[in-house]
Formats: sequence, C-alpha cells, structure tokens
Amino acid sequence: MNCEICGEEISGAAAFTCNYCGGVFCPKHRLPFNHACKNLAEWKESGVPGKKKVRLTKKASVSADVPVYLKKEVLIGVVLVITLLILLFAFIL
Ligand SMILES: [Zn+2]
Ligand SMILES: [Zn+2]
Repeated sequence: MNCEICGEEISGAAAFTCNYCGGVFCPKHRLPFNHACKNLAEWKESGVPGKKKVRLTKKASVSADVPVYLKKEVLIGVVLVITLLILLFAFIL
C-alpha cells in the first residue's frame, strides 16, 4: 500500500484511511489538511467542538449613541472654528 500523497510505502499498521475522503495515507499525510482532503470543510466543522458562531445582535443603544456622536462632531467643529478665528485675529493683529 502506498500513500496517495508522497507515494511512501506503508504497512498495514501505519496506513491511515481518511474518514472523509476514503483515501489511504502515511502518518504524515493522514490528517485532512495534509492531503488536501476534498472534504476538508466537513472535517473542519467536526474538528472544532464547542466553537459556535457568535451572532451579532444589534444593540438597542446604537440609536441612542447617534446624538452623542453628532454632539461630539458639533463640539469639534465649534472648537475648530474658534481656533481658526483666534489664529485669524492673531494674524491680523
Ligand atoms: Zn505520505
Ligand atoms: Zn481525506
């Protein structure tokens, strides 16, 4: 029996059969990502226990944050205008 990736001759005990694609591989290539398994996606899903996708929920406070953001923008704008006016006066005088 030979590994389907490297062609290395493997005896019965060292021969690994992939549960996902059914191929026979040497110990180095037995893992799905080492033999570019065609069912790699399936293996990834089963191989990551307890890792669930976290659903992003829209916070109710998002709408409340908008006015604060706008206020900040207004403040920055006012400060900029004042600074510019001071600079302008300093330049004239
Ligand atoms: Zn191999
Ligand atoms: Zn495989």
